[in-house]
Parts: sequence; structure tokens; C-alpha cells
Amino acid sequence: MVNPIIYGPVPSRRLGHSLGINNIPPKICSYSCVYCQLGNTVNMQVERETFYEPSEIVQSVKEKVKQVRKKGEPIDYLTFVPDGEPTLDVNLGKEIELLNSLNIKIAVITNASLIWREDVRQDLQKADWVSLKVDTISEEIWRRINRPQKSLQLDAILNGMLKFSSAFTGELATESMLIQGVNDDRQEVEGIANFLSELRPNKAYLAIPTRPPAKRTISAASEQTINMAYQVFGKRLSNVEYLIGYEGNAFASTGNAEEDLLGITSVHPMREEAVIEFLKKADTGWKVVEKLIEDGSLMAVEYQGRKFYMRKLHQHGKSSAASKA
Ligand code: SF4
Repeated sequence: MVNPIIYGPVPSRRLGHSLGINNIPPKICSYSCVYCQLGNTVNMQVERETFYEPSEIVQSVKEKVKQVRKKGEPIDYLTFVPDGEPTLDVNLGKEIELLNSLNIKIAVITNASLIWREDVRQDLQKADWVSLKVDTISEEIWRRINRPQKSLQLDAILNGMLKFSSAFTGELATESMLIQGVNDDRQEVEGIANFLSELRPNKAYLAIPTRPPAKRTISAASEQTINMAYQVFGKRLSNVEYLIGYEGNAFASTGNAEEDLLGITSVHPMREEAVIEFLKKADTGWKVVEKLIEDGSLMAVEYQGRKFYMRKLHQHGKSSAASKA
């Protein structure tokens, strides 16, 4: 029988080989995001509770790690990325402590809605890598995108994030999902970027929905908008990357100019001069770019009088099924 608590390891651009820990039964969450790939939230709650005994979770992870290691496969992270909100698990901190004996780094991907609570911040402090959701800093848009449980307060959440960030010694990431016509205008993007520059994450990810969303009528922000957001974020933050569903070859040079160009532009846009430079180094010519534009995998976008090349986002059927991690 498949163990519902563990899955993977799955390849993750952010975390390498990530073994997923599903510490929340489906789908219990404090939000019901319009873009959620798990559909609408069935059980909306903000109270923390015990869903599984910590010993059950730890035992399941240990068994899986043993199996994976026996096959000689690597595990870079144990990642709490459940079918709901991981900090609703009141034993999260205890589970992280118990899992530390495995000597594998631990990651938590949270919507941050409970980070105003000190006990939640303390639990998250125990992880090595934490990702916080920051889709907006305006109350009205937050209610439209994240559709929070009604007792939650955005101000308290944003303050909680700042408190957490000033004390956290691990690696902090943020994820901002851009939805067309909702949180993707310049003013809104600048607001998010200003908040993030105070939060000082090690890396800020810009994301768009790449799987069928809970609310079918929403659309991902356009390429032009994603590029604008990248430039606006980049002015205030040192490390910005896309998270747009192409897990492929984003790290290494394969020696294949086409694949390498697609890999680089799935992480960030490239200025025209940088593309020319790249092609020169790869000992090839502009025809590579023309071919990728023609087959619909690359596109040129203008921003403030400059031309950038980026991976085409809305290429149905071609985007890889990115793992949630
Ligand atoms: S995207 Fe995450 S935070 Fe939003 S409803 Fe789905 S599980 Fe909850």
C-alpha cells in the first residue's frame, strides 16, 4: 500500500532531490487560494492540531530514507510540502527535531498564514530552509487571491514574517504567484518588492500557476508582466528567479546551445547582448534563437526600451509537470 505520508524523492529546482512529507491530510488549509492545484479547500481551519502521531511520521520517513539509500539514490532535502498547510500540524517542530538525526537538511514550504504565532515561528526556526508565500501586501487582493480563513489578519502575518526573518539562521525563500488582472500591475508588484526588500530573503521566486487552478477562470500573468516583475524585484533584491514550471536543465551547461538557452531563460530573462555573448561562447549563431522562437519555446519581450528573451510560458502541453517543491 502506498504510504500517504511520504512521496518521492522528486527532482526540485529549488531543493535538488526532495523527499516530500505530507504531514496534513487532504485538504486542510487556512487559505483557499484561487490558483491552488489541489482544488478548493475542503476543511478551512486555523487551529493547530495533531493529525498524525510524530512517531508515525518519523518512522515513515526513516523507512523511506533507508529504501532510497539502499538503491544508492541521493536525498538532498526532507521537505514538508503537504496537501494543505504544514504549520497547522502542532507537532511540526518536534518532527523536525526528531528527523534531524537523519542528517538530511529539512525544508518547509508554508503559506505563512500562522507565522504571527510565536510557536509557529519557533517550529519553523528549526528547519534549514523555509519558503514563505507573499502574493500581495494589500488586504483586498489578499482576500481575492488567497481567500483566507476569516479570522486571519494580513498585517499580523506580514509582521510575523519580518520577525521570523530577523531571527532565522537558515535559508529563507519567498514565493509570489502572479495572477493576471489581480496582483500583476506595476504598483502592486512594487509593493510586494518593497516588502521583500525589508524581509531580505536569500531568494525571491516569481511564480505563475502551471497546473489547473482551483478557480478555472483565472489566468497566469503574461510574459511581459513576468519580465516587468523580474526587473522591479531585481532593483530591490539580489537574488530573484522564476518558478514557472520548467524544472529541466536550469543549472548545468549541457553543451547543447538550444537546451542551455531554454534552461537559463526558464530561471530569468536574458538581455539581447547576453544572448549574443552566450551564442558566441557556444560557437554558434543567431539561428538557434530564431528556431526556438519559431517553435514557440522562446520569445522576445521589450522592457524600458531594451529587448529581453525569455522562455515562453503559455505553451500548453509542453510545460513539464513541476513538482510542488
Ligand atoms: S496553494 Fe497552498 S496555501 Fe493556497 S490553498 Fe492550496 S495548499 Fe493552501
